[in-house]
Amino acid sequence: MKYQEIRESVLAAIKQADALGLIHGTSGNISMRDEKEDVVAITPSGRDYDTMKPEDITIVDLEGNMIDGAYIPSSETPMHTAVYRARRDVCAVVHTHSLYATVMSMRLADLDRATVPSNMYYPIHTAPFAMPGSEELAKEAVKALGEQGDVALLQNHGLIATGPSMESAMTCAVYTEEDAQVGYYAALLKVPADSYIPEEAALKIRGIALSGRAV
Ligand code: 13P
Ligand code: ZN
Repeated sequence: MKYQEIRESVLAAIKQADALGLIHGTSGNISMRDEKEDVVAITPSGRDYDTMKPEDITIVDLEGNMIDGAYIPSSETPMHTAVYRARRDVCAVVHTHSLYATVMSMRLADLDRATVPSNMYYPIHTAPFAMPGSEELAKEAVKALGEQGDVALLQNHGLIATGPSMESAMTCAVYTEEDAQVGYYAALLKVPADSYIPEEAALKIRGIALSGRAV
C-alpha cells in the first residue's frame, strides 16, 4: 500500500479522537501531510471509523484532487488543504465537533484564558460561521489561524487544531476542548474577568511553547 505510514497515523488518530470523546459517529475529520511528496492522507467522508482500515484513508494532493483510495475524501478537504497550502509548518490537522468548543464558538469571541495548557496556543480566535465543506469556511479557518496560530474555533461548528505532528495537533485539540469546558463553567459561575489567567502570563506560556520547551 502506498503512503502506508501517514494512512496509519490518520487512522490511529481518528480512533483516538473517538476514544477521547472528541468526535462521535462520522463527525470530524483528520489529515496528515507527507512532507516529501506533498500529498495529504485524509479520512473519507461519512464513513464509520470503527471498522475503517488504513487503505480506506484517502490520499489527495494539496489542491484536494484525489490521488489514491476507494472512498471520496472528507467534505472538509478544502479546509485541510487550504491550511497546508498557507502553512508550511503544519503537518497534521484535526477537526472536531467537540461539545464545549462548539458551545463557546457561538460567542464569536477569542477563547478565555481559563487553563494553563491552553495558553500554549494563546490567543485562540473564532472563525465566523460558513457552510461546512465550503471554500469560504476554508478561507475563514486559515484567516483565524493566522501565520502562527495552532488552533481556531469554527462558529456553530467546532474546532480546527493543527501541529507539526499528529501528536501535537491532537494534544492541541484536547487542551482547547478542556479550556472551552472550563471557560463555559466559569461563565456560568459568573467568574469575574480578573480571575482568568493574566494576558501577560498567557503570552509568556505561548512564548515558551513556541521556543519548544515544556510548559
Ligand atoms: P466528513 O464525514 O465529510 O469528513 O464530514 C464531517 C464533518 O465534520 C463536516 O464538517
Ligand atoms: Zn465539521
